[in-house]
Amino acid sequence: MSDKKVISETVLTTDEINMLADINTHISQEPFYILIVDDNQRMRESLSELLAIYGMNSTLSESGSQALDLLESEHFDLVLLDLEMPRIDGFQVMSKIHEHYPDTDIIILSGKTSFENALKAWRMGAQDFLKKPYVPSELIELIKKIREKRRLNTEKMDKRSSNSSLSNVDKTLMELEDIIHNEDLTLAHEIINSSPAVALLWKNISPWQVHFVSENVVNLLGYTAKELLTGKVIYKDIIHPDDEAQFMEEVKKESKTTKFKHKPYRIITKCGVVKWVDDSTSLVRDKQGNITYYQEIIIDVTERELSRQKMLQKQISLEHIAHHDVLTGLPNRLLLLDRMQQSIKKAQRTKKHLAVLYIDLDKFKSINDSLGHAAGDEVLMAVAKRLRENVRTVDTIARIGGDEFIVLMESVTNVQDVKTMAEKLNHSLNQPIYWDMRELFITCSIGISLAPDDGDTPKELLKKADVAMYQSKEEGRNTFQFYYA
Ligand code: GH3
Ligand code: MG
Repeated sequence: MSDKKVISETVLTTDEINMLADINTHISQEPFYILIVDDNQRMRESLSELLAIYGMNSTLSESGSQALDLLESEHFDLVLLDLEMPRIDGFQVMSKIHEHYPDTDIIILSGKTSFENALKAWRMGAQDFLKKPYVPSELIELIKKIREKRRLNTEKMDKRSSNSSLSNVDKTLMELEDIIHNEDLTLAHEIINSSPAVALLWKNISPWQVHFVSENVVNLLGYTAKELLTGKVIYKDIIHPDDEAQFMEEVKKESKTTKFKHKPYRIITKCGVVKWVDDSTSLVRDKQGNITYYQEIIIDVTERELSRQKMLQKQISLEHIAHHDVLTGLPNRLLLLDRMQQSIKKAQRTKKHLAVLYIDLDKFKSINDSLGHAAGDEVLMAVAKRLRENVRTVDTIARIGGDEFIVLMESVTNVQDVKTMAEKLNHSLNQPIYWDMRELFITCSIGISLAPDDGDTPKELLKKADVAMYQSKEEGRNTFQFYYA
């Protein structure tokens, strides 16, 4: 059995005391001022006794208000703070320290160890949170770390003040160094790893050398941090081949900025699952402005992207339905009116003409009546196909009624071209349509109006083309007619 020494409610073994003594030899001999705040006299005194063993003097305070008075009159490097105290509690003391003495470190020693209390304490700047009864070796180890951190900070401050002409880049690098050397890095890692975001730090060395990656990367990519750090897996190779070009294009752009947000892109995980990610990059540069590091935050946005795309698809198909004829797939009246507006403006701008060809099938009802509606539908689809085959791609074809179609001819400079088109359409529709082993014959009557000659609104132009179409019917059908008043 080892010898035992009792400090507060905590029992130390000889091994622990030796270990503590060893720690003590490494503690810097710089003056270090500690304030112990606890309403429990035994706790205050035992703490002070423990610190004394390791050569550290402390000041004792029995209440929050006394602690605040002491803080106002003296400087303290560290406050060992109880939370539960009457009137002014530990949180109120912390809040004052946070506000007025941000240089003072705090270790909470409390029996109140709920998650909320711990979180609140972290947020208010506590360095650590020890549950009572505390383990002396843990406390001494913590104090040692705090002293070491303060010593390093003082050194850096001295360095900085002796080199006040440092550029912003130098400062950023020093801060980065601070973060890397900071004893709280473990805490930062914990926070990063428990977050849904993955943090990556790249050195700007080909081929994309990963300098740091949070452990939680495995949840997102299936690859471990080690696989990325050792270069066994290259991040660029995980990007979906269809998104790689866009990503690389953006990388070129981002090199001109300091912060960059990529368009969401897809990655392929180790087990072959496709995921969408949001990727925000910050760039760190050296004095010459060369990029030294890329800091990247990557978040899984698969659910959001998939539902966004579903919505988009739905919107696109709703929009398509709203603007197209279901039977032939041609633009409907709504879309035609919109296109006409644009074409009229274009004709005005370019000083050219727009021709509106109003096409109505002749005696179409008889097909429905003799062969049935299905045959009629087949004819309508065949007509749409013929029209598509005969007009230029720039021209618009629409179905605006049962057997009524419109062709818009843009950039017309010669009426003869319109005449030729009308003849071509009459001729094309005269050709037999094959349905159910039969040959069906159809003809059409066409009426033509021109912008700006016959009007400069869709309504006016359609009306006049319709009038001309009826004139064609009167002429005996299977012909075309220009509008004339
Ligand atoms: P006209 O030469 O005077 O134009 O004679 P028509 O028989 O073609 O008469 P009208 O243009 O007025 O008739 C159009 C017919 O088209 C009326 C309707 O029964 C038919 N119809 C309308 N929509 C559809 C459809 O989607 N499918 C089919 N099969 N028939 C349709
Ligand atoms: Mg008709």
